[in-house]
Amino acid sequence: MNPSNQANHVMPTYARFPLTLKQGKGAFVWDEAGKSYLDFVSGIAVNTLGHAHPDLVKTISEQAATMLHCSNLYHIPQQNALATRLCQLSGLNSVFFCNSGAEANEAAIKIVRKYFFDQQSPRRHIITATQSFHGRTMQTLTATGQDKIKVGFDPLPLGFQHVPLNDIQALSKAIDDNTAAILLEPLQGEGGVHLAQAAYLQAVRQLCDKHGILLILDEIQTGVGRCGTMFAFEQAGIRPDILTLAKGLGGGIPIGAMLASAQVSPALNAGSHGSTFGGNPMSCAAALTVLEVIERDDLLSNVQQRSAQMQTGLQNLVAQYDCFDEVRGQGLLLGLAANIDVAPIIHACREHGLLILGAGPQVLRFLPALTITAAEVEQALFLVEKSMQGMHT
Ligand SMILES: *Cc1c(COP(=O)(O)O)cnc(C)c1O
Repeated sequence: MNPSNQANHVMPTYARFPLTLKQGKGAFVWDEAGKSYLDFVSGIAVNTLGHAHPDLVKTISEQAATMLHCSNLYHIPQQNALATRLCQLSGLNSVFFCNSGAEANEAAIKIVRKYFFDQQSPRRHIITATQSFHGRTMQTLTATGQDKIKVGFDPLPLGFQHVPLNDIQALSKAIDDNTAAILLEPLQGEGGVHLAQAAYLQAVRQLCDKHGILLILDEIQTGVGRCGTMFAFEQAGIRPDILTLAKGLGGGIPIGAMLASAQVSPALNAGSHGSTFGGNPMSCAAALTVLEVIERDDLLSNVQQRSAQMQTGLQNLVAQYDCFDEVRGQGLLLGLAANIDVAPIIHACREHGLLILGAGPQVLRFLPALTITAAEVEQALFLVEKSMQGMHT
């Protein structure tokens, strides 16, 4: 059946590619006609272990046959186990589970406000970076440092302010007696693959400590191994007070998490926040398996090696084509910045059997599964090159 005949009743919130994906295995997906594609999108950094990973399939099948959902009115062993593991890995103290990135950031905003309320402090404002992306709910779209996603949604909630990333002076100047928290992505994904420099993050941490304000890191896209360490913040040698995760955590099962330090954790208690689906046995079992496989198969080393390989290949493209300016990013969240609209390149790659995505109009973004092999990276680079040869840029 022609998918366009069916799509009329889905609200048109996405400009979709003319493609219906039917099946996936590892790094490959197949469309309805049986054509295969090498997947360097991974459902936007979600399919951490690739498609149909046997361990994840097994966990999900067994959990579905045992219990999908029971409500947070009861104790959930899988939730306890996942929270323990995430706290061991991050050095934070406790976890609130939800179902998406925006919800994790909503929980982060709520815990910050409540933390200062409990202290009878007037601090309520949150500073974020320009070009950031934090979600599509009213609070998180207001936190987002991109005007285009706010148009038409007035009145917006109060208490957010934006400063340029990697400009510690601008941040320092923006802090006042109302500042409660600074919210940053260690590596901006949607906003164009812009890295927060390690020295900047260290200076931000110092500013937060000096003023008694909280540091929230949004690792919804960068976390769970994507950047070559379990969390991107490890590479700057700092730790946030609050950390948000989602996309890659469940390997394709929806789950979000907001982690907080021992100092901040008590601010949310019974009655102050909740989620019907958050932390159900199914999503927590899936996330536990994702974390186990990352560790068991030493996927962090794979991310680092494949990243180096990928960056070398992309640098060659920068040297070869005037339309490419630079390679950016970390681990397997890499951007190839162009000086032209990249939509035709994404289209050409798709025609040649490679799925990639943009990060803004002039940046190509590569987000393969953490299980990607050297041969698959080689093939992806070959397909980008082949796509470029057929174009007039
Ligand atoms: C995708 C993303 C979000 C929003 O996550 P949803 O699950 O779409 O709500 C928030 N922050 C960052 C950094 C993201 O990449």
